Amino acid sequence: MSGSNDHIDDNARRYGKQAILAAAERLQSGGLVAVPTETVYGLAADSTNASAIAEIYRTKGRPDFNPLIVHVPSIQAAGKLGLLNDLADRLAKEFWPGPLTLVVPKTADCPVTPAVTAGLETIALRCPAHHLMQKLLATTGLFLAAPSANKSGGISPTKPQHVEHSLGNAVPMILDGGACESGIESTIVAIRGDDYQILRPGPITTEQLEKSTGKRAIDKQGETIEAPGQLASHYAPTKPVRLNATQPEPDDYHIGFGDIGGNINLSVSGDLAEAASILFAALHIADSSDMPHIAIAPIPKTGIGVAINDRLQRAAQKA
Ligand code: AMP
Ligand code: MG
Repeated sequence: MSGSNDHIDDNARRYGKQAILAAAERLQSGGLVAVPTETVYGLAADSTNASAIAEIYRTKGRPDFNPLIVHVPSIQAAGKLGLLNDLADRLAKEFWPGPLTLVVPKTADCPVTPAVTAGLETIALRCPAHHLMQKLLATTGLFLAAPSANKSGGISPTKPQHVEHSLGNAVPMILDGGACESGIESTIVAIRGDDYQILRPGPITTEQLEKSTGKRAIDKQGETIEAPGQLASHYAPTKPVRLNATQPEPDDYHIGFGDIGGNINLSVSGDLAEAASILFAALHIADSSDMPHIAIAPIPKTGIGVAINDRLQRAAQKA
């Protein structure tokens, strides 16, 4: 959490009680506010307001086939938007508030505007743990759609400065909560009757999901329809990215991990949670360095390392 006043003069970035009230007012009148969550900064708007949602897509340059996650204050509130069966309910009880998104069928009277779900009959729901986002949900009484607060396809923002860098004046207000704790987007799980499918790996690991449900996830199928926004190239810096680089080339900015030092190191002790929390910040630094290429040390594919590798694969993919 950033407790310092060193950014108090910035007109877009604000924090404190008054800022929450101002953000709530802005959201209630159909405006956009960039907000911190425990995963990354989100660009929030009232999910029932069609023009506010259109403004999210416009501001991000996001393709309209890529549906948004709706943030809710509680499991009860989630039930107004989506049908949570026993499995969904169990996962929500175990991992909410937290970095887990559940894709469930929409309720018959779901008030969310169709663009949020890109016309699908399902809806992606998450109850976030970040205290500022929780306060905002409570103060507004709104269900907030909030994709990451950056231009579509670019590196996700984990600090308010990243939001400013990517979206500039297009976002008149950023609620400043300092650096995000998890630093990597939520795990997305689609409920398929009594089974579940992992649409996007994230901070809630496969092992945690298996332990909670007592069963393994079903394999991916019909990917283009089921996870419409999961494009091969995403989270991409402007420079070429090389993965599994144990040694840097002379023109590389090298992101290290563990014993592989690098120009910056994701975690000297080899802690994957620490690595996830600064992954996007490291990519931002690498992208704005003087070096023309980015190289990244191998990251173990266990636990949250699966999510880190998922993001890195997409970052390394050319659009
Ligand atoms: P983000 O880009 O972090 O806002 O996450 C949104 C992602 O959630 C999208 O790119 C989709 O892959 C996924 N998603 C959202 N709604 C649905 C849905 N109804 N069905 C399947 N996936 C969804
Ligand atoms: Mg995003």
